[in-house]
Amino acid sequence: MKVDVAIPRTKFDFLTYFTEENLASGDLIMVPIRNKVKYGIVINKNSQREVAGIKKVQELVEKNFIPDNLLRLYKWMAEYYLASLGEVLRLALPSKILRKYEMVERQVRAPLLAKAPKPNYQQGIAISKISGALQANRYAAFLLYGITGSGKTEVYLRCVEKVLRTDGRALVLVPEISMTPLLFERFEERFHDDVATIHSTLTDKERRRLWYAIKEGKYSVVIGPRSTVFIPIPDLKIIIVDEEHDQSYKEHTRMPHYNARDVAVTRSKLENIVAVLGSATPQIESYHNTEIGKYELLDLKERIDARPLPEIEIIDIRQETKPYISPKMEAQIETTLKNNEQIIIFLNRRGFAPSLICPHCGYTAKCPFCNLPLVYHKSEKKEKSSLSCHICSHQARIRSICPKCGRGTLLYRGAGTQRIEELLNKILREKELTTSKEESLVVRLDRDSVRRKGRLQTILKTFEQGKAKILLGTQLVTKGFDFHDVTLVGIVNADIILHLPDFRSGERTFQVLTQVAGRSGRGKKAGKVLVQTYHPEQYSTIFGQLQDYARFYEQELQVRKELDFPPFTRLILIRLKGEDEENVWGEAKKIYRMLNELGKAEIFGPNRSFYYKIRKDYRVFIIIKVRKDYPHRKLRFLTNYKPTKCSIEIDVDPLDVF
Ligand SMILES: [Zn+2]
Ligand SMILES: [Zn+2]
Repeated sequence: MKVDVAIPRTKFDFLTYFTEENLASGDLIMVPIRNKVKYGIVINKNSQREVAGIKKVQELVEKNFIPDNLLRLYKWMAEYYLASLGEVLRLALPSKILRKYEMVERQVRAPLLAKAPKPNYQQGIAISKISGALQANRYAAFLLYGITGSGKTEVYLRCVEKVLRTDGRALVLVPEISMTPLLFERFEERFHDDVATIHSTLTDKERRRLWYAIKEGKYSVVIGPRSTVFIPIPDLKIIIVDEEHDQSYKEHTRMPHYNARDVAVTRSKLENIVAVLGSATPQIESYHNTEIGKYELLDLKERIDARPLPEIEIIDIRQETKPYISPKMEAQIETTLKNNEQIIIFLNRRGFAPSLICPHCGYTAKCPFCNLPLVYHKSEKKEKSSLSCHICSHQARIRSICPKCGRGTLLYRGAGTQRIEELLNKILREKELTTSKEESLVVRLDRDSVRRKGRLQTILKTFEQGKAKILLGTQLVTKGFDFHDVTLVGIVNADIILHLPDFRSGERTFQVLTQVAGRSGRGKKAGKVLVQTYHPEQYSTIFGQLQDYARFYEQELQVRKELDFPPFTRLILIRLKGEDEENVWGEAKKIYRMLNELGKAEIFGPNRSFYYKIRKDYRVFIIIKVRKDYPHRKLRFLTNYKPTKCSIEIDVDPLDVF
């Protein structure tokens, strides 16, 4: 018979082979392709395709390697995200396929033990609604909207426990494991070693072994980042997506650019199981889905033990002589430390200073490749300090004299986390709030400070144990941490959360501010949030809404409606990259014309990308806007389309439109 076979890492959907064996879809086989032998997955048996020079399947490796419903999920992904099945398999399967005999043995199923706190009234309602769907053994999708500190995790734990009692299994997706140590700890505390965790620190081999063990049903609970959504799990009953609004669910670098949250919901539908999406700041599209009946809304409107939300104060820094840490912020830091409480300071910019300029001629140090300002990174050893491009990582030496006019002494302007760290330490010394000279009360959490392995855990532990009193950092500090002694959150400059031209920027600002403010007052003592800004009017509205997502949602939805943007339409972004600037534009215009002929879609562009040049590549994009019922297959030709001398990237439901 003839079979259609999908092969990982290829740009096509499948090839057809013949075989004498009785193969079925989902079987793992080895097939010859271009003088090599590769793994492939049978996707159709009894293929009717006529192929000249058909080759023979070389070996059956494993029967039923991928279950049917997952194959259907992979096919859906290829169609929806305009990618080839080969590209989908590259992301869905382990980087190297493991043979069964390489597996580790593991005791199946540890007993579970529940020492759970009693759910409050609202948690109780959420749990019972999800349990109802679990018992009915049917597909259902819930949006668990719970304000920061309202106890979403306990709802997850209870539902997973219900699933385990009926011998089912659970999948929990998290933005990044290292960023959610607490969630993971609580799952382990409840379910012991019956939890498999896909860490970013696992080696490829460990990851493959775990993949296999999970597929064989050796763990009841699987926790992991976005790619975990593809793992076969027998008797899967529930998929939980924590912090569903988080951008790390989107695959940004490789095709297909899927969103694991949406893949999780589709998988639940195909497997007829329950999906729970949780967030304090749901994505507009998700909340909209509760209004049109796609998801059921579960509300947690109260913090645990009826703790109040923090009090928010906005500081107008236009008039301040000290713009980085205003006197008011400084005073509040002092009070908080004297009360022996902790502080989180947030600034969404790493490095010491965002630019180096010449006061004489106005020269700014820029990346020679990307033409964007270089960021000054200070090092304890002066010669190790450098300028770095945050887009392409180019490093440049620091000069003190302006290379353009040769007269001015270069000055750094603005502040990043490093500069604020220095400033905080200075304030603590002046006010005699530090105890020893060696140990700082300030710990910094940004991508530079956690580069070395294990650093992140150390920083979090130091702060958690109270050895450090101030946690200073970028967006990393907005993740779901739960420090009970934090009573002050200071936002150094609310205006630089976003500077990108995007229709989602209002939503993103709201999400970041809500999440960072939500770190305050999670223990017994009430919390405070200080927000420094050059545009106080703007933030008073945002923070007015902060206590009230529904109000924010209504206003934001109105804007989207006027612009005819998602959730009312669907966007598809086509990006072209190449070294020859003229050629990139030429190719983009060609695609624009092809798309225009299709009709029933609005095509915008080609436009320069916000980052027009990264390293050697010029970047140009086109936006396709379609109604939600637009047939995707009309665009499938793009999957195999090869522009000359440049690469093409297709992003369905893009998060960034620039
Ligand atoms: Zn100069
Ligand atoms: Zn650069």
